[in-house]
Amino acid sequence: MKIAVCVKEVPDSGPARKIDPGTKRLDRSGERTLNPFDLNAVEAALRIKEAGGDGEVVLISMGQPKALESIRKALAMGADRAVLVSDDAAAGSDLVATSTVLAKAVEKEGADLVIFGQQASDGDGAVMWAAVADRLKMPVISQISELDVSGGQVKARRQTEHGYDTIETGLPAVLAVSDAVNEPRFASLKGIMGAKKKPQDLLALADVGVDPGAAGEAGSKTTVLNLAPPPSRGDTVKIEDDGSGAQKILEFLVERKFV
Ligand SMILES: Cc1cc2nc3c(=O)[nH]c(=O)nc-3n(C[C@H](O)[C@H](O)[C@H](O)COP(=O)(O)OP(=O)(O)OC[C@H]3O[C@@H](n4cnc5c(N)ncnc54)[C@H](O)[C@@H]3O)c2cc1C
Repeated sequence: MKIAVCVKEVPDSGPARKIDPGTKRLDRSGERTLNPFDLNAVEAALRIKEAGGDGEVVLISMGQPKALESIRKALAMGADRAVLVSDDAAAGSDLVATSTVLAKAVEKEGADLVIFGQQASDGDGAVMWAAVADRLKMPVISQISELDVSGGQVKARRQTEHGYDTIETGLPAVLAVSDAVNEPRFASLKGIMGAKKKPQDLLALADVGVDPGAAGEAGSKTTVLNLAPPPSRGDTVKIEDDGSGAQKILEFLVERKFV
């Protein structure tokens, strides 16, 4: 079975995300890493391959060429090879344009199963898998907390706000796993040493059959009109804890009739 895992390089900036006022895009300078949620997707793919005894796990990404450095983390975990679509004409791609490119790259690979993490830690959209599944006309199961893929069938337990759904589908399919689905393995020293030597294809838009007009700003449906800092939270009260902090918090809440 060929399993494609979509992975993304993200800024390693924690919650301190900055928007570049010039381009009105996320500032992607500085330290970068692999999207943490994608580690669960890679782990899920490796377990399916290992249980089946054969197959291939291919990482698919769109980003800057230097993203390969982060993607190697997933190769070190055990993925077989990586495909990175990188093209100047893809800069400024929103969800619509990015999903076009990823869907074409998956199609080119002819994957039986496509696995995503639940969200990217920079964009936090948690929707890319749905957009790609729609373009590929494949069934999609999201928010997967338990997964079984065998005999050409997928059985997934999906976490919802009301409880759990159990959903079954055939292949090909698109899956988005939550971080509850597994505990990603650590890469071994041998894995880390071998990652650089695994095939890593850097493709242009034309290589995956995407017209430049369908990617980047030209292919995007979103326009950022304005940027502003979040509104002030109004009056704030800072309570210094000199040993009576808990009492002061209680008095504050009682005064405002919260308790
Ligand atoms: C106007 C505009 C301009 C933008 N310009 C740029 C830009 O120049 N460069 C840029 O990097 N982003 C850009 N973005 C952000 C980009 O469109 C989003 O990152 C993308 O739509 C994915 O959304 P998300 O990060 O919320 O992913 P989510 O929906 O939260 O991610 C879900 C899953 O999809 C995977 N995924 C998401 N994106 C990719 C990818 N590129 N490759 C492989 N897997 C992926 C994630 O790893 C995760 O597993 C722009 C957005 C807008 C609105």
